[in-house]
Amino acid sequence: MITGKCPICKRPAEAEFKPFCSRRCADLDLQRWLSGSYAIPAGEDDDEDGVPAPMQVPDEE
Ligand SMILES: [Zn+2]
Repeated sequence: MITGKCPICKRPAEAEFKPFCSRRCADLDLQRWLSGSYAIPAGEDDDEDGVPAPMQVPDEE
């Protein structure tokens, strides 16, 4: 029985990945949770060329 919706993409949740619809969304949520509210570059030691790493913008919402 499937209840609820995926908090990431609002699709019906799959029992296997509850409360998410897929492994992908579960991973996404975990990453958000671990990084606070936004994606933060893991390393800050890559500024040798002076070019900041491009930010990853979620395509939801
Ligand atoms: Zn989802």
